[in-house]
This record gives sequence, C-alpha cells and structure tokens, in this order.
Amino acid sequence: MKEDKYCPKCGKKLSFFYLKPNCPACGVDILRYDAEGRLERDAQQAAKEVEALWRFVHKADKAHVIEKYCARKGRPLPWEAEAPSADRTQPTQTQEEQA
Ligand SMILES: [Zn+2]
Repeated sequence: MKEDKYCPKCGKKLSFFYLKPNCPACGVDILRYDAEGRLERDAQQAAKEVEALWRFVHKADKAHVIEKYCARKGRPLPWEAEAPSADRTQPTQTQEEQA
C-alpha cells in the first residue's frame, strides 16, 4: 500500500520512500517533531480530562470541601497541582522569560 507522507511542520509532500529523518524543505526532524506534537496533544487531552473531572466535582458540590481542606493545610488545590504537568506548552516560555 502506498501512502503519502507530509512534513508535519511545513506540509511538504514527501515520497513514501523518503526515509531520512529530516524534511528536505525545512530540515525539521520529522519523527521527533511528530512525537512532540503527539505529546502536546496528549497533554492537552489530559488537561481537558482533568478540567472536566474537576468541573464535574464542582457541579457535584464536593469541591468546596476540598477547597476548605486545602486552604487549612496551605496546600494547592488538586486541580491546580495537576495543571502544570499537563499545561506545559505555554507557561514554560513565560517562566523562562522571567528567569
Ligand atoms: Zn518541512
């Protein structure tokens, strides 16, 4: 079966038999670029799931119990503690700018 491949960055059509790791047009590392894209999508998906879960908890009106508990213990809220790992794409840059 013949299947067209495209550069994940610039979209250049690549031969099915083009097996080099870098795009001939923009030079991007195709395999790694694609893997990073997948990781980002996974992270975004995970973030959405965490958000959806905690929205549900909020709706179920259990969140205020957890919020009180965390406030008393001086701990971050679970849904805030979850965010950085999943929400890494944009905040990383701002953190680097501040450093
Ligand atoms: Zn390219």
